[in-house]
Amino acid sequence: MSPEPHRGASAGRVLPLLFLAACAGANAASPSGGSKGPDAIAPGAAGAAAGIRPEAVSAHIRFLADDLLEGRAAGERGFDIAAAYVASQLQGMGLEPAGDDGGWFQAFTLRGGRTRAARLEVRAPGGEAIALVRDRDFLARPTLAEGLADVTGPVVYVGHGIVAPEYTWDDLAGLDLRGKVVMVLSGAPLGTTRDFFPPIPSAVYGSPRTKLERLLARGVVGVLWVQTPVRERVNPFANQVSHASQGAMALVENGLVPARESVAQAVLSMPGADALLAAAGRPERVSTLFAAAERREHGPFALGTEVHLRVEAELRTVHTANVVGLWRAAPGSPVAGERVVFTAHLDHLGIGKPENGDAIYNGASDNAAGVANVLEVARAFTRLPQRPRRGVLFALVSAEEEGLLGSEWFVAHPPVRREALVADVNADSGLPVFLPREVGALGADESTLGDDARRAAAALGLSLGGDPDPQQAFPVRSDQYSFLRAGIPGTATRVGMGGATEKERAEAVAYRQAHYHRAADHWEPGRDYGPAALLARFQLLLGLSAAERPDRPRLLPDSFFLPRPGS
Ligand SMILES: [Zn+2]
Repeated sequence: MSPEPHRGASAGRVLPLLFLAACAGANAASPSGGSKGPDAIAPGAAGAAAGIRPEAVSAHIRFLADDLLEGRAAGERGFDIAAAYVASQLQGMGLEPAGDDGGWFQAFTLRGGRTRAARLEVRAPGGEAIALVRDRDFLARPTLAEGLADVTGPVVYVGHGIVAPEYTWDDLAGLDLRGKVVMVLSGAPLGTTRDFFPPIPSAVYGSPRTKLERLLARGVVGVLWVQTPVRERVNPFANQVSHASQGAMALVENGLVPARESVAQAVLSMPGADALLAAAGRPERVSTLFAAAERREHGPFALGTEVHLRVEAELRTVHTANVVGLWRAAPGSPVAGERVVFTAHLDHLGIGKPENGDAIYNGASDNAAGVANVLEVARAFTRLPQRPRRGVLFALVSAEEEGLLGSEWFVAHPPVRREALVADVNADSGLPVFLPREVGALGADESTLGDDARRAAAALGLSLGGDPDPQQAFPVRSDQYSFLRAGIPGTATRVGMGGATEKERAEAVAYRQAHYHRAADHWEPGRDYGPAALLARFQLLLGLSAAERPDRPRLLPDSFFLPRPGS
């Protein structure tokens, strides 16, 4: 978490303030009068950026994170109130509705499921069935296709379960997996060089969805995801258990959920996986399997026993919507039909397990903060003296917390033809708690958005940092991934720690620990929302640069997200 600071902390602290002072006047010019300021990106951009006020950001967060909105879970009343608020805001700024049938909302349907009862038994060499303990040894995922999963099959351990031909990596080589239950390590190896699983391929290959689709195609009927030491740091098993009461959701299209939702699934805790291996009479343990996989050793083996996994779920139909507004391009622009998209997810976790007597997961930082920024970016566009070359869509999406579902729906059913979507700038990185000297745009280096990010950071006198923690797989963990997966440039904007003092770093870490997916993620009246406003200025200038560039934003020739032969 400590990318090299590009310059001293004291200089970094002064520069953004100087910039603000320079462009706060009515007739704002770029701070140095040179070509590096926001006005080099588009005339009037300095004034539009400076007009993003911390009070406005704070006010949106205050409303969206109010207890009255009950944590904004997709399908619940609180989310619908938030959606009405956002639509009203966009209308008031003079944007055009870009949802279904000339309205602001793009409606879609989800199937939700909660596990009601679950059993996982393993047959020992002597023939007796040994039951693992639910929520200690294993966590059962509801099977959304049917509601009931009941599978018995021989167990095969398949390492990470990854097939990546371009890295000559195939964990499934030579295995007949039809009718089998596989034991799969969660996540993916992470290399430090370009020739072996750099961060983005690692994140994509490590995602459960990528693996599940591959395993389903090979005839697998059940998946036991094995928690690893790395996953335990990123997403502890105990946290997964405490959030499981909220269930799972999938998109419904023509009455159907994706085929992968028919696979029976459970997550094994590390002790649970060890218990299963021991019950099967195997000498391996998670620590040894994980260590071998880290050494890049493929060592699949049949456990020589069967498991029985039965998961009963309660299913329900959930109706929710994305909110979408359009700021049109300048009339006569040759690329007026193209769209740069700003996204932020409006949903959060709703009402959950009480923490300190508080059951409402308000989601101020996650992601009322991102929504507030996108709203103020929209307002800033309306303050520019001229419209951009490309149209700009503002999409406040639902069901991100359920697996990036709202953005997936948006990309599959865009308000314009899909080829017209040229870039996504996503805001979902939590509330910045100190005035940053560094910003980041994860995934931007896959595309020309990297140039836009560099211009935007430079225009604000900020440095541009990289991914501080690739094991977190941030590039695939929010809505920009729905765009990247479809071959559309996308980026996750954030602030970085570069140039931060020890005290600021500690503050940021403590804030995240106390707030991330916790009931205590409240709006705070005494907090300084200036850092959030600075991040919004970066987001504005990045997206504006993409909207103004003469050539169409595009993936770079070596991008992982370009369609590849054999994929
Ligand atoms: Zn989020």
